[in-house]
Amino acid sequence: MSAIDSLPPLREVIETHQLLARKSLGQNFLLDLNLTAKIARQAGDLRECDVLEIGPGPGGLTRGLLAEGARRVLAVEKDSRCIPALAEISNAYPGRLQVIEGDALEVNPLTHLTPPIRIAANLPYNVGTELLVRWLTPKAWPPFWQSLTLMFQREVAERIVAQPGSKAYGRLALLAQWRADARIVLSLPPEAFSPPPKVHSAVVHLKALEAPRYPANAGTLNKVVAAAFNQRRKMLRASLKSVSPDIEDHLKAVGIPPTERAEQVGLEAFCALARSLKPLD
Ligand code: SAM
Repeated sequence: MSAIDSLPPLREVIETHQLLARKSLGQNFLLDLNLTAKIARQAGDLRECDVLEIGPGPGGLTRGLLAEGARRVLAVEKDSRCIPALAEISNAYPGRLQVIEGDALEVNPLTHLTPPIRIAANLPYNVGTELLVRWLTPKAWPPFWQSLTLMFQREVAERIVAQPGSKAYGRLALLAQWRADARIVLSLPPEAFSPPPKVHSAVVHLKALEAPRYPANAGTLNKVVAAAFNQRRKMLRASLKSVSPDIEDHLKAVGIPPTERAEQVGLEAFCALARSLKPLD
């Protein structure tokens, strides 16, 4: 393992601070600093950006982001045992790393960061999808972030980039692809982590679009898609009955056969359907 900075190797950091991985916190650490630098590079040119990192743990990705030139990194970590290890990184990069001990679901990063902002994280599996949905569904668009570079279980990554007709296609794909360009940029086997998880992982890069790909009211689209995929085996005229009693007319008006199933319907058609309904905020 070659050094990307003058700090000790991650195995040594983990030993010194006795960071025995906790399953309850989704802790699967990346110990190869070449790999964390590679993930950081997928986040784009960081030199003029502030970066939000969720769950830095012992700091492998944090070090990658700083070594790649991030202007500032704000790292939010729930596990107090990691804070002294992260303080050592902060000392090695004066003024560039701020660590907040807390729950990422409760911290407002905007009080600490200056745009342009990118988000990069090897997310804890228990809160990863919830954070992604929050970042994709703010009230106003464009959002506070330019891009998201996020590690997920491979299966979740596939749901984000899925196309109509595939098993993985659903609400996550539609939310992500409506407002962002999403692609899988890296695949990682379980052995890349310590301890190795049971599943494969993948890094997804999402670039925020200036405006949603097709016009639609966000609240309406959200409700339509949630109802459609909640009962994905049913025909849309049945699964969407709760959204509007005359849904069959709306489906026909926008050219979607009322007997179609959600997984066959593309983003453009869902947006047209949302536009034909009265706003459901
Ligand atoms: N970034 C490190 C790496 O790549 O080696 C650690 C990644 S590990 C998959 C997830 C990290 O998120 C752990 O350090 C865990 O303590 C932290 N974490 C779990 N739940 C959290 C939450 N709600 N808010 C902030 N951090 C959390």
